[in-house]
Amino acid sequence: MNRQYPQLEINLPKLRRNTREVVSRCQAVGIHVCGVMKGTNGHPAVARAFLDGGASELATSRVEQVIRCREAGVPGPYLLLRIPMLSELEEVVRWCDSSVQSELATLDALEAACVKLNKTHRVIVMADLGDLREGFWDKNEMVDVCAHVERDLPHVHLAGIGVNLGCYGSIQPTPDKMEDLIAIARQVEERIGRKLEVISGGATSSYTLVHWGTMPKGINHLRIGEGILNAKDLQIDWGIHDMDYLAMDAFTIRAQVLEVKTKPSHPVGTIAMDAFCRVPTYEDRGMRKRCLVGIGHSDVGDAARLIPRLEGAEVLGGSSDHCILDIENCTQEVHVGDIVEFSVIYSAMMYAAARDDMNIIVVDDARSPRES
Ligand SMILES: *Cc1c(COP(=O)(O)O)cnc(C)c1O
Repeated sequence: MNRQYPQLEINLPKLRRNTREVVSRCQAVGIHVCGVMKGTNGHPAVARAFLDGGASELATSRVEQVIRCREAGVPGPYLLLRIPMLSELEEVVRWCDSSVQSELATLDALEAACVKLNKTHRVIVMADLGDLREGFWDKNEMVDVCAHVERDLPHVHLAGIGVNLGCYGSIQPTPDKMEDLIAIARQVEERIGRKLEVISGGATSSYTLVHWGTMPKGINHLRIGEGILNAKDLQIDWGIHDMDYLAMDAFTIRAQVLEVKTKPSHPVGTIAMDAFCRVPTYEDRGMRKRCLVGIGHSDVGDAARLIPRLEGAEVLGGSSDHCILDIENCTQEVHVGDIVEFSVIYSAMMYAAARDDMNIIVVDDARSPRES
């Protein structure tokens, strides 16, 4: 079956431009950009756009996505961003050039996997500076483990150290946090008697320091996904207004109108639980014109967070396979069969890109849209 809608469109010229804008600002302060494509289910066209735009490395959390890109001919190099499971180390060594690490046991097992496959592998050892996801809390232990990698694991190359912020603990990257990371790097370098190649200061949220010109000297690597792909977190959620050099519409979702009717805005009857065990509340605004669109939570995670580009339209809510729009104030007439466009936040992109019944359209210069 050849399903047309819902549809996720990826605009490659916009992605390449966003990548170049971020890469040039990072390069100017000595930072390599690693393009993070996990939010697109590792779409090879996105990976290639990162490289075309000047990213020096590609990254994702899943080995499957590295395999997908390599099999599509995208050369990498590839960094695995989720600290690996013991059960996937051979695949990690086989397909990824580097990985982030935070456990001695995993590093020792990684050496064994490298020996078995007769390969070497680079690692970035992670420090936890307060966000409380991956990384060493005890920094003396971290330095010891780095020295162990350097001294005792001949097939595992200690490329550097890194930190992740703003993910679990919502901790904001600051110059102080970066200085803490650099200080750990200097300690490691003193112990192993050489320079580290990589001091990786974080993700999109750490790019703010580059943008503001406050990134401390010494950080030379950032891993950026959302900030290039959607570019909404910093401009909208953080309210940074002078970042309009980044396009926020490289991704578009399209879905078809199934029903257009005028109905009460407040449900009629006794309100119990919805299909997701929530008891919602509704504002009574009288009879309103609304439409039902063929896209739902199962396509985008939370259909209520879709952002319609149709002027005057407002998302009322959704269910697994529907999104309900209030179109009372739309200037444009809406009919059954019309296509509604939505702007795409990271989570919607992530779910949509991973569904095999989503029609993913890749748009490029001087070429008609290409299905993939
Ligand atoms: C997902 C991830 C990133 C990229 O995050 P963005 O906010 O999309 O830039 C960077 N580092 C790690 C470890 C990640 O898991």
